[in-house]
Amino acid sequence: MKEHVLIIEDEENIARVLQLELEFEGYAVEIAHTGTDGLIKYREKVWDLVLLDLMLPGLNGLDVLRRIRATKTDTPVILLTAKSDLEDKVTGLDLGANDYVTKPFEIEELLARVRSAIRVSKSSAVHSQHNENVHIFHSLLLNEQTREITNDGESINLTPREYDLLLYLMKHPNQVLTREQLLDAVWGFDYYGDTNVVDVYIRYVRKKLEEKGKSSLIQTVRGVGYVLKEEKR
Ligand code: CA
Repeated sequence: MKEHVLIIEDEENIARVLQLELEFEGYAVEIAHTGTDGLIKYREKVWDLVLLDLMLPGLNGLDVLRRIRATKTDTPVILLTAKSDLEDKVTGLDLGANDYVTKPFEIEELLARVRSAIRVSKSSAVHSQHNENVHIFHSLLLNEQTREITNDGESINLTPREYDLLLYLMKHPNQVLTREQLLDAVWGFDYYGDTNVVDVYIRYVRKKLEEKGKSSLIQTVRGVGYVLKEEKR
């Protein structure tokens, strides 16, 4: 599938050269000559990359960037800047631009930056997609979708209750959790048993995680409860 690149650049010659070069590299390219037009085009579809000129008539590049980032999309944006735009370049990076290329640029350098920005954004998109369902804490990995758990690559089998307990700990790493909190979260508010049940299950989970000499990462906070935390060495 072709990757879509939006060029927002008022200098028609530059925009045209960029379009031809990018199309030659296999990208699907569209051009906007003003900031306003650029924003309209930006909202029309999902782009893999935006090349954004800073000096645009009307709505300037920084305004466009601000509005692009306000949409909460993380499409990579590469700024096209003049040498004299240092301050704007810094502002642009602060506003969430991924990179910049100073005019006049070597086309090969620009193409390399385009490739790199798209690659980085794709790998981080995969990562953040994972993050919703996959919890990772140091050596521990828990996948909510598959209910798969590994510790340092070793597969771990937990009972449903043990799983819920570990999931809760992994959702609150580095946070001291009291026995009552764990009891409410894992056993439910209507559980009237002793909080000792928490200690018992923590012991089960630890034992399974610690097989083959690995660390469970579950630390006891004396008199309080437990915390998922890296052991001090
Ligand atoms: Ca310009």
